[in-house]
Amino acid sequence: MSDNPQNLKRRISSLKQWQEGLEELLSSGMEDFEEKLFNFLCDQNELVSMDKFKNLLEETGLRDNDFRLNETMQKFRNVLERQLHDEHELRGMMDKETFLDCVSDNIVVISKALTSQFVIPEFRTFTDIIDKIFEKCVYNEKGKPAQYIPQLARGNPKHWGVSICTVDGQRYDLGETNIPFCLQSVVKPLTYALTLNDLSPDVVHRFVGQEPSGRSFNELTLDYQNKPHNPMINAGAIVTSSLLKKGLVIADRFDYAMDELKRLSGQEHVTFNNSVYLSERATADRNFALGYYMRENKCFPSEADLVETLEFYFQLCSIEVTAQSGAVIAATLANGGICPTTGDKVLNSEAVRNTLSLMHSCGMYDYSGQFAFKVGLPAKSGVAGGVLLVIPNLMGIFTWSPPLDQWGNSSRGVQFCEELVANFNFHNYDNLKHTSKKYDPRGRAVESKAQDVVNVLFSAFNGDVTAMRRYALLGMDMSLADYDGRTALHLAAAEGHESIVRFLLEKCNVNPHQKDRWNFTAYDDAKRFKHDDVAKILLEYMKKHPTPEGELQIEDINEKIKHLYNID
Ligand code: GLU
Repeated sequence: MSDNPQNLKRRISSLKQWQEGLEELLSSGMEDFEEKLFNFLCDQNELVSMDKFKNLLEETGLRDNDFRLNETMQKFRNVLERQLHDEHELRGMMDKETFLDCVSDNIVVISKALTSQFVIPEFRTFTDIIDKIFEKCVYNEKGKPAQYIPQLARGNPKHWGVSICTVDGQRYDLGETNIPFCLQSVVKPLTYALTLNDLSPDVVHRFVGQEPSGRSFNELTLDYQNKPHNPMINAGAIVTSSLLKKGLVIADRFDYAMDELKRLSGQEHVTFNNSVYLSERATADRNFALGYYMRENKCFPSEADLVETLEFYFQLCSIEVTAQSGAVIAATLANGGICPTTGDKVLNSEAVRNTLSLMHSCGMYDYSGQFAFKVGLPAKSGVAGGVLLVIPNLMGIFTWSPPLDQWGNSSRGVQFCEELVANFNFHNYDNLKHTSKKYDPRGRAVESKAQDVVNVLFSAFNGDVTAMRRYALLGMDMSLADYDGRTALHLAAAEGHESIVRFLLEKCNVNPHQKDRWNFTAYDDAKRFKHDDVAKILLEYMKKHPTPEGELQIEDINEKIKHLYNID
């Protein structure tokens, strides 16, 4: 659930502190990041609080159980353990040496988080809006849980959870995100993706089509080639179940599916609900009818055993996740098949792309067309109330609430998705440049190279050394040139900004010999506009760093130096 006001106050004040401190950190240069971080975080006794540091990371969406922080967290535990036996040390407080030792192993992700390089840099601004959308959906009491088996009919209509995981592993949870529930139809795109990952799309689509059926999800119907219309409806999912690791014995096939789902979820919660499976199997007349109809029409691979296939399909539907583990699965799909929380490459990117395409057109039962129109994102829902939503290259979201609408989709889940794209420009066809009414939480990761050039050149022209340091720290190429071949160094030299020229040369190692389209170097510009101090800096640096062409260039420079210093 969302924060109480006190928590919120605490959170906002620490975020403010963080932002102000970060500015200072960046403006004092880019070297010795760990030390600057220590200076920024330490108190008057030169100690850093472990909790304060962890809170700071959490503000960015990074959890302390993230695998990328393993070494740091282990060292924190060791420090706490040691402090238990040493009464002179303040528990949870670290001196400089201890702090540097703890953070150094994981400094890559720590600096990425703290220098706003995650895909959603201002994570709290984003999640504050998510809080509001979540709260709005609490009041939606439409629909009721699925009634066809007692295990689902007993679902609590009040349960409502939303979990988010970005492609950089930033996490956020609201409501009931730790309660297991069955994937049901949400397993269909996952079965399809795993099948595609193993067999090629050509092989898989010999057995199943790619068209929306225009019929109900469990309709007894095939397409014009006598294939199930797509893998998101029951007929298609039963066929893809028959393809999944078809060479193995059934027990190993089940183990394979469980292991792969576990990998997709970054080793988070994936279990099997046997009573749901037994209920599914006991009430499966329609699915058996579909199975026999498809066998009659030669829809299965020749070696498939019908009853075994159907049972496997029911078992897959009875696999449980939580909203949290489901969000990681969704994020793995958003991230092209690589799990963002473990770095495990589970699926190839083509399998993911094909899966997302079919989720987009067929994932939300008979509401799929309207969903694609209104939300414009790939999603899949299931009758236990789960909705898996993918925002490609950005994040995965899993919502869970048992009451279903007339189409069999979670009422709150659909409302959440619709509100989401009303607030953020996440719809596939939202224009990212001109959709001004919507908020875009994406950071510079999606900014174009052209925008990078403008930012760097503009700051160099204005003499904004703080901004230049920030861009350098963010890993931008500081030698980028515009259409005319003008670089930041040219502009800083032409404007006489000595500190920027020094920064670009000494810290960023940009090439001082780079020429613009009129064959001018930065030195030529400094000279032309009578900034002799800057011209001297450039010449001396050029002398120390000649171009590979060598001697001639140095002699040339020597000539220029003589001229500049009036030496004959
Ligand atoms: N086990 C259900 C069936 O095959 C799946 C229902 C669903 O989530 O669509 O009928």
